[in-house]
Amino acid sequence: MTGHILSKSTYMRGLKCHKSLYLNKYGKELRDETSDSQQYIFDQGTEIGELAANLFPHGIDLTPDSVFDYTESIRRTQELISRKERVIYEAAFLQEGVLCAIDILVYDGKNYRAYEVKGSTSVSDTYIQDASLQYYLITKSGVKLMDISIVHINNEYVKKGDLDINQLFTIQSVLTEVLNEQKNIPNNIAEFKKVLEKKNNPPTIDIGAHCNSPYSCDFLGHCWKHIPENSIFDLSGLRSEKKFALYNNGIITFNQITKEAEESFLNDKQKMQVFAELEQRTYLDGENIRSFINELQFPLYFLDFETMMPAIPLYDDSRPFQQIVFQYSLHILKSKGSTPEHDEFLAEPDKGDPRRPFIEKLIKDCGNSGDILVYNIGFEKGRLNELAEDFPEYSVSINKIIARLKDLMIPFFKRWYYTPEMKGSYSIKSVLPALVPDMSYSDLEIQEGGTASATFTEMARGTFKGDVAKTRRALIEYCTLDTLAMVKIYQKLKEI
Ligand code: SF4
Repeated sequence: MTGHILSKSTYMRGLKCHKSLYLNKYGKELRDETSDSQQYIFDQGTEIGELAANLFPHGIDLTPDSVFDYTESIRRTQELISRKERVIYEAAFLQEGVLCAIDILVYDGKNYRAYEVKGSTSVSDTYIQDASLQYYLITKSGVKLMDISIVHINNEYVKKGDLDINQLFTIQSVLTEVLNEQKNIPNNIAEFKKVLEKKNNPPTIDIGAHCNSPYSCDFLGHCWKHIPENSIFDLSGLRSEKKFALYNNGIITFNQITKEAEESFLNDKQKMQVFAELEQRTYLDGENIRSFINELQFPLYFLDFETMMPAIPLYDDSRPFQQIVFQYSLHILKSKGSTPEHDEFLAEPDKGDPRRPFIEKLIKDCGNSGDILVYNIGFEKGRLNELAEDFPEYSVSINKIIARLKDLMIPFFKRWYYTPEMKGSYSIKSVLPALVPDMSYSDLEIQEGGTASATFTEMARGTFKGDVAKTRRALIEYCTLDTLAMVKIYQKLKEI
């Protein structure tokens, strides 16, 4: 075993919250489960790291066989440095009981430069802190670093032909910020070691804005278990500072909200949410709902897109993290009272860029007249505008589709219809169970867009390990339910 007390990741936990640092050592079993979409982000990060290594090729990789034992990596790092090896991946350093490994360490014959790879598109404060600890440990080990940089994704890169990793990545020196941070590191290390020494004395830290900022903690389930459903943290659109101002005044549930707190903290929509919940009251603005429904032009289309956002662009004329459409579901009501018909598109993941076949089928399926209802118009409209720009040969037809879009979210967003079951939200996942309680996503294999997106990306990259045919059926079922839900919501509004 390496025998370290802290690692780079536990040091980062300590900076975020002493309790997270403590629980990570003494309460591992309390950690939240990793979701599929989080796992996808981790896997994507690993892949980006491997790709970025090619910026400095022919290095020696010191990744250990087990993440629990860096002894050999540390020894080999010193050995390779003493023989002036040019490029080392995962060079490991242990100083003052703190362990770190740097993604890429480069020696140019005179000077050393260190590079840490991140899968995002900019440099955050967290990355600076992370690089600062690495700089501290590497220089303490006797390696004089000329520079330290973050290698991150350049979201302006447009893929044309083979992937150009020199364009895909941006190398940004953070040396100045890292040097400024050096004076704080010894104190931080000493403080975090003290936290870990006190096994029987867990830090008494209450929940706060730090739990979700700058990223979500993985002990939320444990630390937030005293917060019941329908608490002030479920107040839609209320800023985090206001929620914690209420919480710190002993207000957690809706019935604890005083008149004074209501007036100082809540807007009209939030007051409505509280009142509807406490009185179990439904709000209905029949007149506005009626005119919304009566203005709709038949045939009525109910449309929903699924997209993926690969960090490393898969197709020509696409950028990192660009939303790429790969699936839609379309229900059609030809006339009032007719039975809904269904069309759909799901790309073949191994047949290349899905956008062109997606557009061609969509244009055909949408016909020439009638309103096209979507739920949250900004999303579908945004994707259609991008498609019109990236494939100008279809722009006339795409713009005709855009002109026919209507937003089924309006009656809920404007609170023309509100029930306590919506819990302040107007998302389709909240509106559906409130209006159509017998319809639910809970029986589906794929239950939310993040999983659909991660699944299709893996299929398109050729890294998917599951049953492709079965998963394709699950993707179709999920997207179909989205537009069927819209049909049911429309029918419910009509009844009202
Ligand atoms: S959930 Fe919040 S209080 Fe609990 S360990 Fe995480 S950051 Fe700390």
